[in-house]
Amino acid sequence: MAYKISDECISCGACAAQCPVSAISEGDSKYVIDADACIECGACADTCPVGAPAQA
Ligand code: SF4
Ligand code: SF4
Repeated sequence: MAYKISDECISCGACAAQCPVSAISEGDSKYVIDADACIECGACADTCPVGAPAQA
């Protein structure tokens, strides 16, 4: 399953810079992951200061 970003996201942008396939972009109220592009590497979850990305 692809990773998904929860509402805990504070839009810091750290995860987007770490994603190897550029699957993360800034959304209206939080960052969002393109589930079709995500290769489930876990880098976003490792980088996030608030633990927002998790496997859906
Ligand atoms: Fe990108 Fe990896 Fe996070 Fe998927 S799990 S969004 S590929 S950093
Ligand atoms: Fe949101 Fe975490 Fe990504 Fe920062 S690293 S934009 S808080 S999901």
